[in-house]
Amino acid sequence: MLRGSCLCQGVAFEIDGSVIDLLYCHCSMCRKAHGSAFRARGKVRTSEFRWVRGEALVRYYDSSPGQHRSFCAVCGSNLVTRFDDNPRVLGLALGVLDDDPVNRPICHVHVGSKAPWHEITDTLPRFQDAPTRPVAPAPHDADGRDGSDPATPGPALFRRALRDDVATIVRLLADDTLGSQRESLADPLPRAYLDAFEAIDRDPNNELIVMQHEGEIIGVLQMTYIPYLTHQGSWRALVEGVRIDQRFRGAGHGRRLFEWVIRRAEQRGCTLLQLTSDKRRTDAIRFYESLGFVASHEGFKLKLPRAC
Ligand SMILES: [Zn+2]
Ligand SMILES: [Zn+2]
Repeated sequence: MLRGSCLCQGVAFEIDGSVIDLLYCHCSMCRKAHGSAFRARGKVRTSEFRWVRGEALVRYYDSSPGQHRSFCAVCGSNLVTRFDDNPRVLGLALGVLDDDPVNRPICHVHVGSKAPWHEITDTLPRFQDAPTRPVAPAPHDADGRDGSDPATPGPALFRRALRDDVATIVRLLADDTLGSQRESLADPLPRAYLDAFEAIDRDPNNELIVMQHEGEIIGVLQMTYIPYLTHQGSWRALVEGVRIDQRFRGAGHGRRLFEWVIRRAEQRGCTLLQLTSDKRRTDAIRFYESLGFVASHEGFKLKLPRAC
């Protein structure tokens, strides 16, 4: 769950799902509405958004026919935008989020109307007007790697997993030689999976991430961020439970997933990324080595009796 609020704290809201289609809009309306160089915005599903405080303070301004931008009547903070032609989604001013949406802006739009005194310095794709194709993360975004690899698959979306994704994730974990021996696909799903999901979701240093391709979840992994004293005090990221749908293996998706993971760990200020792989997974070990991981340590595990 993600939380947001206005400047005066009179208005607060919650979002159950993820924020998608994050971008920077440089149009003159957005610049005026925000009093800023551009508007950073995303979209949320209307059904997953709720006001938890101060809905009576929310005012709407029709910036264009059928587009209703909302703001706090007391402090003027921009909140959500309603669209008459698409009531299922809301536009969201990212600046009022109190939590990290995990997904990141992927392009600049209406760059043709950009403020003359503002210079765009990142390498995200820029569109003179609105995007000419559906907005999805660029195959190789901010880091400028070239996309010439013929195995490069189409656009993928990375987001925090939702409770509704848990069954799909367990199916992915079980659809594997080693996983099939330890996962349970009973229906309804054993309670322990949902409890584990809740614990991960509540913890700001844990993220269960799914990779979506053409609307379908095809990959999953968990990231844990660990502060530590050695190496002069720093943060490291630990990756667990990596799985790519069998049907999508060997098409570059795993590489894409890990390029995202590496950037995510960097964004979180980590200076080390670590994982362990079962020694029987020789393909996986070769894959990690090809990404630059070095098998410099022996990993040790001690199985403990399960408490009842
Ligand atoms: Zn306010
Ligand atoms: Zn705009």
